Amino acid sequence: MDKTRFGIFGGQYVGETVMSALDELSEQYEKISNDPSFWAEYNELLQNYAGRPSLLYYAKKLTKELGGAKIYLKREDLNHTGSHKINNVLGQVILAKRMGKKRVIAETGAGQHGVATATVAALFGMECTIFMGKEDTIRQALNVYRMKLLGAEVVAVTSGTQTLKDAVNEAMKEWVARIQDTYYVIGSAMGPYPYPKMVRDFQKVISQEIKQQIMQAEGRLPDIVCACIGGGSNAIGAFYEFINDKSVRLVGIEAAGKGVDTDLHAATMTKGTQAIFHGMKAYFVQNEQGNIAPVYSISAGLDYPGVGPEHCNLRDIGRAEYYAATDDQAVNAFEVLSRSEGIIPAIESSHALAYVLEQAPKMSKDKIIVVNLSGRGDKDVAHIARYKGEDLYE
Ligand SMILES: *Cc1c(COP(=O)(O)O)cnc(C)c1O
Repeated sequence: MDKTRFGIFGGQYVGETVMSALDELSEQYEKISNDPSFWAEYNELLQNYAGRPSLLYYAKKLTKELGGAKIYLKREDLNHTGSHKINNVLGQVILAKRMGKKRVIAETGAGQHGVATATVAALFGMECTIFMGKEDTIRQALNVYRMKLLGAEVVAVTSGTQTLKDAVNEAMKEWVARIQDTYYVIGSAMGPYPYPKMVRDFQKVISQEIKQQIMQAEGRLPDIVCACIGGGSNAIGAFYEFINDKSVRLVGIEAAGKGVDTDLHAATMTKGTQAIFHGMKAYFVQNEQGNIAPVYSISAGLDYPGVGPEHCNLRDIGRAEYYAATDDQAVNAFEVLSRSEGIIPAIESSHALAYVLEQAPKMSKDKIIVVNLSGRGDKDVAHIARYKGEDLYE
């Protein structure tokens, strides 16, 4: 068996220089995987810095309003920095420190992963550089300021479409150029091995906690675990401990943007085909020439043209299901949860909620759905106001 793959997906499709960096990383990761002192340090920070375990909250009022299955929210929005991203960043930065690196770099789209990385770099007293598409630095000026406040340098990437995929390319180049002192913190369960496996291992705490918490609350496993899909890290974290529990349906929701039959979507599983990009074999949205196509979603965190290799395999073997929710459906879910439970969800997480709003009423009252609330929605308020035709200052 090829340890770098999930079925036929994944691998290490990189040039020689990146390969030597990946070899060093794989070796170190495999070493710490079996080192209890590493996991003790990681768990201590999850608890005392990130604020874990996160709540599994029974959304009683929403459940009643929908009149069907019981809905539980896994509250990753309550973590420090406001999303699941901190789980992964803490793991990788501890690893970087143990590898003797003095500097961390990361790519970021909307800025959530960049802010999480800058936060943990500050905590560890490490130098930090964040690569961000120039377009994104303008759209997300507030996050650029946050990262600088946390002591990071932000590099505006001007190549290609000046967005997330170009930021990944630049970060990869920088990593190779300064491999002696630099560690590259990838923000999702994607890229070449060992990243997809390592990021999953740092996010699986989500499903470990869900399992324990739902057994305590209900004495049984849920019928559905549902999460939104960008690169796939919060979803694989929420699914992982349930993969062998065949009674649990695993459902991933990607961004349908303006609709999967338009050019404005990021629905990789629905519309994508196999390709090799960013060092991995996976599904990607491509144009007729076989190039990676520009993607679109109201949610910057779901605006990526591919999906991580473990999800591609779970789909092909029929273990997980993937559907898409449009901008309109996500915005509706954003408003419904805010009013019904007093919880403002991230617009990314609202895609998963949109599926729940549709499915729960069709299910009987003895069924249970757990939805991963990957982040909080404060960051999205101004954008959604604009979407609804109200102009706020940012
Ligand atoms: C980044 C982000 C996502 C998407 O990334 P995944 O790797 O697919 O989890 C989803 N929700 C929030 C709140 C995010 O910040």
